[in-house]
Amino acid sequence: MTDVLVLVDHINGELKNTTAELLTAARAFGTPAAVVVGTPGTAQNMAEALGQYGAGEIIAAESDAAGKYLITPEVDVLVGLAGEREVPVVVAASATGKEIAGRVAALTGSGVLSDVIAINDDRSAQYSIFGGEFIVDGVGYGVSPVYALRPGSVDPVEAAASPAVTEVAFPEVADNAVEIVSFTPAEGGDRPELTEAKIVVSGGRGVGSAEGFSDVVEPLADALGAAVGASRAAVDAEYYPGQFQIGQTGKTVSPDLYLALGISGAIQHKAGMQTSKTIVAVNKDEEAPIFEIADLGIVGDLFKVAPQATDAIKGS
Ligand SMILES: Cc1cc2nc3c(=O)[nH]c(=O)nc-3n(C[C@H](O)[C@H](O)[C@H](O)COP(=O)(O)OP(=O)(O)OC[C@H]3O[C@@H](n4cnc5c(N)ncnc54)[C@H](O)[C@@H]3O)c2cc1C
Repeated sequence: MTDVLVLVDHINGELKNTTAELLTAARAFGTPAAVVVGTPGTAQNMAEALGQYGAGEIIAAESDAAGKYLITPEVDVLVGLAGEREVPVVVAASATGKEIAGRVAALTGSGVLSDVIAINDDRSAQYSIFGGEFIVDGVGYGVSPVYALRPGSVDPVEAAASPAVTEVAFPEVADNAVEIVSFTPAEGGDRPELTEAKIVVSGGRGVGSAEGFSDVVEPLADALGAAVGASRAAVDAEYYPGQFQIGQTGKTVSPDLYLALGISGAIQHKAGMQTSKTIVAVNKDEEAPIFEIADLGIVGDLFKVAPQATDAIKGS
């Protein structure tokens, strides 16, 4: 018998790196069951990869209708399983994952901890609150407490297992469910996906223009094999597309290295990047709040510092 339900994070059958992190963190409770909601054959295709990170069982809720409906199939499957098994539930703290976490908790009458960065075997967890200003410990209450784990906060650790696939019924779709009629993946180019990247190079209003991003921010990111992010001010000024915004109303990232170029460090920006493991900031204003959370602060002109860094990295 498995001890915790982990909702497998995937896009149309393509496993996201986050899933290995979820399984690793969930192992604090014992053996995880990986819950796959997808089209027929999805679970079987993922079995080996899920077993590699300790999934003792794979629970497949499959139908051709999967992927056509937002959130509700995942919620219904998890609520059904949580009711039967009375074990904790772990999901990714993505925008979708948080929505699922909240609904599952409400429907099962359990507690939910969001933006979790570590899970302990006594059901307590460390999580980020007040826009990343504080990291606190809390305990998930109820029979099936829900943990939404922030991507990038746990290093995946392998633990080989050979899971069997258990099939459960795909939930009935309500008449008023919202149907997805088309799906166009965001163009990410060759760079890593923002929320999964180990290194993120972000630009703010200080970058000054769209050309500043293409001439200074992107070359540094490419030299480092990093993803590119942006502050809301940079997005609002149309220096960079909105899908790359980091912060309270953008994406949340927890990379090993976060490089902030020309970003002041407003609380709403910090909310999306403060749990990064190492933060490096370049800002010409030595009073900029970003320096309060930076591990390395460089007071200087980003148009001088970033190209020098790019050249040095390329030359090394
Ligand atoms: C409800 C709400 C939600 C929000 N959500 C978000 C969010 O999700 N993400 C987000 O980022 N913001 C968000 N904001 C906006 C936030 O409050 C800030 O306005 C924004 O983060 C500022 O972006 P910035 O640091 O790029 O710009 P600024 O605050 O203008 O800072 C620019 C910095 O660049 C520096 N600089 C200028 N030129 C150079 C140079 N040549 N070299 C080096 N440094 C230079 C300046 O010294 C300055 O510190 C939100 C605000 C609200 C009210």
